[in-house]
Amino acid sequence: MRIETVAVHAAFSVDPSTGAVAPPIHLSTTFGRDEAGVPLAGHTYVRESNPTQDLLEEALSRLEGGEAALAFGSGMAAGLAVAQALPQGSHVVLPEDVYYAYRVAAREFFPVWGLTATFAPLDQPGALAGALRPETRLVWLESPSNPLLRITDLIPSAAIAKRIGALVLVDNTFATPILQRPLDLGADIVLHATTKGMGGHSDVQGGALVFSRKGELSEKVRHVRTILGAVSSPFNSWLVLRGLRTLAVRARFQSESALAVAQALAAYPAVSRVNYPGLPGHPGHETAGRQMTAFGSMISFHVAAGREAAIEAVGRTRLFTRATSLGGVESLIEHRATSEGAASTAPGDLVRLSIGLEHPDDLLADLAQALKA
Ligand SMILES: *Cc1c(COP(=O)(O)O)cnc(C)c1O
Repeated sequence: MRIETVAVHAAFSVDPSTGAVAPPIHLSTTFGRDEAGVPLAGHTYVRESNPTQDLLEEALSRLEGGEAALAFGSGMAAGLAVAQALPQGSHVVLPEDVYYAYRVAAREFFPVWGLTATFAPLDQPGALAGALRPETRLVWLESPSNPLLRITDLIPSAAIAKRIGALVLVDNTFATPILQRPLDLGADIVLHATTKGMGGHSDVQGGALVFSRKGELSEKVRHVRTILGAVSSPFNSWLVLRGLRTLAVRARFQSESALAVAQALAAYPAVSRVNYPGLPGHPGHETAGRQMTAFGSMISFHVAAGREAAIEAVGRTRLFTRATSLGGVESLIEHRATSEGAASTAPGDLVRLSIGLEHPDDLLADLAQALKA
């Protein structure tokens, strides 16, 4: 079955008791048992599992091609549950420009949990091999990366990590499984901030992990979620599942529009560089073309006149909404270093765009007036 069909039909069934086509939201926090004390339908308590979350997890597994999925209350909770499942003394390799809050977590919390971390430019060949240590247990990849849209070649990276028995996690938030399926490329775990493209409407926070295998690792991480409690609520699970139904059309339309916007931006004199893997001049263009079916909805660009000019250009936009986050139906614009705050390593002249579902001509007209192009 093709991915567009999976997005609509995974975990889909007409409710036999009511005939409802849309799934019910089960808000119950607790679940009944029979006379012998056996749970009536497998569930016991909402933090451990619940029927609405089960539907979401089944759909996520199908979309990413994994055997098991776990939904979380946020993308941060999902990613860090993997770190929390590692044995003390484990070493983790992360990309230099990993999503900034994971960088903060690695600096501030990994030492408390008995973990060590190395940051390396993992989009560069040779960087991963040089960062590995005998005690490396997890290699964390993000492609395309945030906010510089760097591309990491996932197949050779996974192979290098596997040689020393390290797990490979790929943050697939920017691409979504419509455009890239890391488990097919050798990853063990796919991470999503479902807050972004999967939810798709800027109205729900969530995170997810999809595992290539159901087994010791996925069960260990499930235990972390159950005991530490970073669960998704039934209502939030339902909203993310609803978003998945339209993910394929949104991801493709947004990618097409983003390519048009990136191409036009590249010709503006006010813009010194555009970071978009769909442009032939992007260093990861060829790799992205091999491992993605389209280049995604995210663009960043450098304003030639520098930081203040970048902030002013963002301030002049009228159609773009000035806000952080991504993957929603409305296009967003932000001065990335301002959004990330003190821990930011984003260049001062960098503007980040999330392309939504508006017509690209209207988006370009707004950017042209804002950049005085
Ligand atoms: C937003 C984001 C996260 C974190 O997700 P939250 O739901 O905000 O915790 C992780 N990775 C990437 C690439 C993101 O964009």
